[in-house]
Amino acid sequence: MRSARRKGSAPGVHGGVLAAGFIALALVPLLAARLSGVEAIAPLHEFATALGLIAFALILLQFLSSGRYENLSGRIGLDRTMGFHRIAAYGLLLFALLHPLGYVASTFASDPSAAWTRLTGMLASPRLRSGVVALGALFLLVALGALRERIAWRYEVWRASHGLMAGAVALTVLHHALTVGTYSPEGLLYYFWIAAAAVAAVALLNVYAVRPWRMWRSRWQVESVAPLGPRTWGMTLISKNLDHFDFRAGQFIWLTLAPNSPPFHDHPFSIASAPAELPRLRLIIREAGDCTDGFGETEPGTRVAVDGPHGSFVLDGTGKRVIMLAGGVGIAPLLGMLEEAASEGDGRSFQLLYAARSPQEITCIARVSALQSQLNLSVRYLVDTDARLPAFLQGPVRPEHVKEALGPSPRDAIAYVCGPPLMMESATDTLLELGVPANAIHYERFDFGAGKGRLDRHRRRQAIAILLVLVLGAVLFSLS
Ligand SMILES: Cc1cc2nc3c(=O)[nH]c(=O)nc-3n(C[C@H](O)[C@H](O)[C@H](O)COP(=O)(O)OP(=O)(O)OC[C@H]3O[C@@H](n4cnc5c(N)ncnc54)[C@H](O)[C@@H]3O)c2cc1C
Repeated sequence: MRSARRKGSAPGVHGGVLAAGFIALALVPLLAARLSGVEAIAPLHEFATALGLIAFALILLQFLSSGRYENLSGRIGLDRTMGFHRIAAYGLLLFALLHPLGYVASTFASDPSAAWTRLTGMLASPRLRSGVVALGALFLLVALGALRERIAWRYEVWRASHGLMAGAVALTVLHHALTVGTYSPEGLLYYFWIAAAAVAAVALLNVYAVRPWRMWRSRWQVESVAPLGPRTWGMTLISKNLDHFDFRAGQFIWLTLAPNSPPFHDHPFSIASAPAELPRLRLIIREAGDCTDGFGETEPGTRVAVDGPHGSFVLDGTGKRVIMLAGGVGIAPLLGMLEEAASEGDGRSFQLLYAARSPQEITCIARVSALQSQLNLSVRYLVDTDARLPAFLQGPVRPEHVKEALGPSPRDAIAYVCGPPLMMESATDTLLELGVPANAIHYERFDFGAGKGRLDRHRRRQAIAILLVLVLGAVLFSLS
């Protein structure tokens, strides 16, 4: 049996430091340009150049914000990382689109038709072809990312195309910068782009080649699969080689079942057990599509590739009371946390509100009941249909349920929420309204969509603020 990583020692950099580092790296090209000795032209021209330089830096930084680099983003978690990745993509696309427009903006004010002729001339110029191709490919890349849920591609196809296109965009922008850029073809900036592009290439290679190869090394296999409810399976994995596997309950793994291979077939699943159960990991998996629909037929002994642990959705020691709100298969990480708390003798008060569509979809009642004898844990089950009182309350989760679970002193509580997007958004909004501090509310999304809750909006505003700082950097550059 292996010891779990100690509480509070999640890998990764503090969010503020990460944001400052990100801003600094995105602005390095402007500094290098100013130090190059090349004479600045008109402010608008310089502003357009600065936007191009920042856009390229952001493209390269995106390779590091793919959610797989725990040593960087482990502390802020996958939700924030992917949320930022998405906002940064929109921001850099906007900067890249404004980059050529900026060069004709001054002409546009005095002579719109001359500006138009200049712009179309630029777009048709063989010299600028790699830049134009890069802009078109970048637009497609971001559009396909934004429309991922709506296009009828298999997730694996989308993922493969995303990595390949991102690599192609980076290469064409590199060509554009090094051949026709104002500041990039020589000097400090030339070496900066080469080095940064090499780091991005290594990051891409790591995610798409090195990690997949390493994923087989821990020699995990399926020990058992059993039905837990409608279209829901309990899967137990076992490993014969745990050299690099310390996890905290609530974290997740990327999993691929043989005979498929990573990287395009790996899917994220929360660990629904505590570290004390290693070398076993328990998962609760709901059928959701191509990959998970076949999980129920998996034979014991099937080899699996595991990458992890990942994520920062783990129980922390603050708060006198722990409130857990689970929706459907969102119980998985919370169950792991409760088992970890039980194995560590956590004496705090735990409240679990567990909602599902029907009583049959409330899985693991026996495990939860067993935990009640080991923890100070009270549980409420809510179902949308066939609610049979007193075992099940009538769902869906409403503010009064959250209020009751929270009790009289919201500022003492720490909350963990995991479930369908709408449930999480309304639950986290209610927790905020009832006075739970934002930093005491933790949630994990099971998709990469943009949430609409107050906390999601707050995070988006933080990401936009970072982009605005970069715009300010571009303005200062153009005036210097
Ligand atoms: C951090 C995290 C933890 C998760 N934990 C669990 C869990 O404990 N139990 C559980 O049942 N589900 C969990 N999920 C959801 C699970 O990963 C998806 O349901 C699964 O990947 C669907 O794959 P599919 O091929 O069966 O369906 P598809 O039809 O391919 O996908 C259905 C939807 O799932 C999402 N999805 C598919 N593949 C991926 C992927 N590789 N990465 C991210 N999203 C994907 C997409 O939004 C897609 O539209 C978790 C997701 C995340 C992000």
